[in-house]
Amino acid sequence: MLIGEGARGSLTKQLIARYDLGAGRDPQKFGIGLKEIWQVDGARFSPGLVRHSFGWPLGRGASGGSFLYHYDDRLVAVGFVVHLSYDNPTLSPYDEFQRFKTHPLMRDTFEGGKRLAYGARAISSGGWQSVPKLVFPGGALIGCAAGFLNFARIKGSHNAILSGMLAAENAHAALAAGRAHDELTAYEEARRGSDIGRDLHKVRNVKPLWSKIGLAVGVPLGGFRHVDQRTLRRFAFRNAEARQERQRRIEAARRSPADNLSQAGWKGLLRQSLVGLLVEHQP
Ligand SMILES: Cc1cc2nc3c(=O)[nH]c(=O)nc-3n(C[C@H](O)[C@H](O)[C@H](O)COP(=O)(O)OP(=O)(O)OC[C@H]3O[C@@H](n4cnc5c(N)ncnc54)[C@H](O)[C@@H]3O)c2cc1C
Repeated sequence: MLIGEGARGSLTKQLIARYDLGAGRDPQKFGIGLKEIWQVDGARFSPGLVRHSFGWPLGRGASGGSFLYHYDDRLVAVGFVVHLSYDNPTLSPYDEFQRFKTHPLMRDTFEGGKRLAYGARAISSGGWQSVPKLVFPGGALIGCAAGFLNFARIKGSHNAILSGMLAAENAHAALAAGRAHDELTAYEEARRGSDIGRDLHKVRNVKPLWSKIGLAVGVPLGGFRHVDQRTLRRFAFRNAEARQERQRRIEAARRSPADNLSQAGWKGLLRQSLVGLLVEHQP
């Protein structure tokens, strides 16, 4: 049985608890990703344009970023991910996403356009350090159920497909050998040296360093976009315990119940800016 429920699935949570699959691994981290599909005015369409950004409109004590892709027939996919570790419990990821679209670099895109679809989904962002043990008697975790999202690129469908293939190949070999109801250890061992392992290993320090020392230093240091990590190559920084972060949030909210939005108005734009805005064309 291969479990592919996506991030934070109900069966997955039970399996991880029952078989202690998280033992010896860092805790998993989560974010909420919101996405809209727009059909935009032809004059505002730039086929192949890709934009990623970090920060704004999130103020201090919250982190996340955006993506925007121009594709197909005047279609634009735009989305915003907020890490579920923000200090202020009144912060609304949906409202932050809407405010993000008002940024001077963004708002023109949507003028005269029509929103066709929208949705939201949890993402797992712990990466390499937080991947649980993948196998249990008679089954295995695949895709985002296993935490295979490359968080730095907000990209997980490639690893979902690859892990499904890897697990299926190993399950086929086990069944052909007459095995059943045991652990598919070959899949567990294969994934570290596979394309999935290489993909996650490269960006393993982005999230922990971002959480520990902030966006401006943590992300470049962590090796976003595969910057060579000569000094960090042998290290894997740890993802913090979820309960430590929760406690930190509660304490911060007690100290200052003010709405986070006030920190991130237009003045916040200057302070936070769109740190690390990356623009590229992908024909
Ligand atoms: C806003 C956003 C934007 C993203 N953008 C990109 C991108 O541009 N490129 C990219 O590669 N990745 C992107 N991702 C990540 C990508 O969506 C995931 O990595 C990928 O979908 C994981 O595939 P999966 O099959 O593991 O899980 P999912 O795609 O989540 O599929 C799991 C399916 O299982 C179903 N399910 C859950 N529990 C059960 C159950 N108990 N019984 C039956 N069915 C169940 C769910 O309803 C769902 O249909 C994005 C994610 C978000 C949230």
